[in-house]
Amino acid sequence: MAGEPQADCLFCKIVAGDVPATVVHETETTLAFRDINPQAPTHVLVIPRAHYADAASLAEAEPDVAADVVTVAGRVAEQEGAGDSGYRVVFNTGAGAGQTVFHAHAHLLAGRGLNWPPG
Ligand code: IMP
Repeated sequence: MAGEPQADCLFCKIVAGDVPATVVHETETTLAFRDINPQAPTHVLVIPRAHYADAASLAEAEPDVAADVVTVAGRVAEQEGAGDSGYRVVFNTGAGAGQTVFHAHAHLLAGRGLNWPPG
């Protein structure tokens, strides 16, 4: 069923507490934890607790939770001291765009200069 935990999903396992993560913020609907392979001084993943394969599927099914993910990214950016200097929120969608974990997640990147366009 849409939104239900998937046994083979790494991020569902993190939500369940079966795989450890460095959690920096949590709400009823979301979890934010440090990326294991950081690409910037601040690299945090913000995920919905519910399982959806990507951000658009999440937004279609649960728009309020999609909004929570973006709101939490902003809160964590403030928490990390990046509110004024700027930060980037990225949703890689599809393998061709670099998505490797098919549980919706926002990458919050901050703490260094961020070029545009991204690679
Ligand atoms: P994607 O490539 O956009 O799907 O992002 C997946 C991210 O998950 C990558 O940046 C990985 O470094 C990160 N990642 C993979 N396994 C773990 C983990 O166990 N804890 C935290 N981050 C992880």
